[in-house]
Amino acid sequence: KPMPVQYEKPSPSYLHEFLDEMHAENIREHLRKFTRLPHLAGTLQNLRLAEQIQKEWLAFGLDSAELVWYDVLLSYPNGTKPNYISIVDQHGEEFFKSLLAEPVPEGYEDLTDIVPPYSAFSAQGKPEGDLVYVNYGRTEDFFKLDREMGINCTGKIVIARYGKIFRGNKVKNAMLAGAKGIVLYSDPADYSAVGVEPYPAGWNLPGGGAQRGNVLNLNGAGDPLTPGYPAKEYTYRFSPEEGLGLPKIPVHPIGYNDAARLLKNMGGTASPPDWKGALNVSYNIGPGFSDEFKQNKVRMTIHTYNQVTRIYNVIGKIRGAQEPDRYVILGGHRDAWVFGGIDPISGAAVVHEIAQASGKLMQRGWRPRRTLIFASWDAEEFGLLGSTEWAEDNAKILQDRAVAYINADSAIEGMYTLRVDCTPSLQTLVYDVTKQVGSPEVGEEGMSLYDSWHKRDNWTDNRDAPRINKLGSGSDFEAYFIRLGIASARARYTKNRKDTYSNYPVYHSVYETYEIVEHFYDPTFQRLLAVARVRGGLIFHLADAPILPLNCLEYAHALIQYAHGILKIAQKHPEAMQRYTVSFDALFSAVNNFTNAANDFHQRLKKRGCSCPFLKSIIMSRLCFRVFSPIARHIIFAPSSHNKYAGESFPGIYDALFDIESAVDPARAWDEVKRQISIAAFTVNAASNTLNPVA
Ligand code: GLU
Ligand code: CA
Ligand code: ZN
Ligand code: ZN
Repeated sequence: KPMPVQYEKPSPSYLHEFLDEMHAENIREHLRKFTRLPHLAGTLQNLRLAEQIQKEWLAFGLDSAELVWYDVLLSYPNGTKPNYISIVDQHGEEFFKSLLAEPVPEGYEDLTDIVPPYSAFSAQGKPEGDLVYVNYGRTEDFFKLDREMGINCTGKIVIARYGKIFRGNKVKNAMLAGAKGIVLYSDPADYSAVGVEPYPAGWNLPGGGAQRGNVLNLNGAGDPLTPGYPAKEYTYRFSPEEGLGLPKIPVHPIGYNDAARLLKNMGGTASPPDWKGALNVSYNIGPGFSDEFKQNKVRMTIHTYNQVTRIYNVIGKIRGAQEPDRYVILGGHRDAWVFGGIDPISGAAVVHEIAQASGKLMQRGWRPRRTLIFASWDAEEFGLLGSTEWAEDNAKILQDRAVAYINADSAIEGMYTLRVDCTPSLQTLVYDVTKQVGSPEVGEEGMSLYDSWHKRDNWTDNRDAPRINKLGSGSDFEAYFIRLGIASARARYTKNRKDTYSNYPVYHSVYETYEIVEHFYDPTFQRLLAVARVRGGLIFHLADAPILPLNCLEYAHALIQYAHGILKIAQKHPEAMQRYTVSFDALFSAVNNFTNAANDFHQRLKKRGCSCPFLKSIIMSRLCFRVFSPIARHIIFAPSSHNKYAGESFPGIYDALFDIESAVDPARAWDEVKRQISIAAFTVNAASNTLNPVA
């Protein structure tokens, strides 16, 4: 168990002034004014919002605020030829069609630019065939269909319920299974909380609501046409057919009313109990409809098109007083599928308030020790494009200068407690900051957010402290954390882990309004305020503490756990490990070296403090160590290959071990495991060397 770490704190009076400068009422107003209109990436309205944010950041007193554009591949439905799913009879007559749009909530009827539900980057086409129900469309679901049920998806249209994993992974799995189209739907089992009414009476998803979202598999590439380079005017572009991560089959999302109609008369194999959702249908798997409806087929009609479009990030800066060449970044997206009441504007409103509080402090003579960068990213919803292009554009200087990246997407997704995902080296700071913020919950006046969070979500299996998760992906920190190796964190208010619904029910629907936050998620805006103080407190410490508040002991502690975790997975195959002489000794020895180096480093830091500026700069760069392999892949963390939203530790070894019992050539498969172990061992050793005394 790592020791609690002492580091020099930024001047406490300014920190408290900073936190006190943030107000619930201001956050409410930012949210109100940023959610009046839709702000889809690539539209004029989203450019106008960028200009407004730029203007206001300058008025708050930031040193600079610029619009930085890129020309990236986006995807839109055809304005005159709608997308839909139909059931056709034996004469090819469509006798059922899915909704072309969601019923618009009251007060928004006059708006003409609400994009209907669609799967961004879907292939075009009109595939027709028998339907197969594939549960959540996860790797394990397709394994079950293929290996246990003997159901072949080749040439079929599959229907998967939303939830559990990133939708892009579902589409990839469907393609690999040979499907010629995939319908995604929101099942009430996953998008309705028990005892809650559909919006607007409550916060559940109505039956006509559907989840928009991109269905790419980019693996961190950013713009599909310019991998590795910023998408400027002069940049070489792949042809649209060569685009990275684009699905080859049509994809379309529908709500549960329409899904019930498609699933109602399914025939074929019965579902296992845990594949059944909450609709009043059999959940038979198919393929195709039952006897009397056998001749009916399902057809997808998809006219969505891809187009290179200009997007705009807003980049605001406050120049550091003592270390202007060290950057602390607070970034979150601005583009929304429709109004973005929760995603992303609850987060953007918080960033706005943090920028305003920073400006107020500067008027009183404060200036951070390091440079603060505020970013309002564009086109996150289209594959993290704005943030990734800016990271590509600035890769060289960010590698040298960035010390931390704090993500600021949606600030709330539930009404229960705080949720934090971060690099292990930031855990100590997260705990420290949450002890300085008050609980937003009624009846907990005077209690710290830390205690309120601890009470609701104890990290029991690890230690007696609030739970902190590994970072996965699915938001803009990906390029900074995974590609550049910068210490990163995200924090938001969340639901109770015991609640079984996926995400928040109205996610990416037209029902994500200002009113859903005001009426249900955070009527007093105290929760958003608490999140603002956490995100703000993090960047304040990171930008102003004399010694960077990064803790390599926590990293060492995490590595030990991950090493044991991956060993345990390998040990499920004791004979194979013996036959192919697979050993984790090198990895454990490397982790041990790292732990020793981290301990020594820590002792030296404590003893000598940071009085000497030369020493200090050395310490700083050691604290920013990045854990890369020779092929520039993050070796400790990656988004899971089966679910982009989740994080995997030692992902190279994990993927090599995955389903290894089915390998056609076991000797080769285990050889790859050995190669991955040696890459991990080498990289961890290299990282520990950066912590050792230089000579
Ligand atoms: N946050 C968006 C989503 O979940 C985009 C994620 C991504 O492309 O990685 O749909
Ligand atoms: Ca690019
Ligand atoms: Zn978002
Ligand atoms: Zn989103």
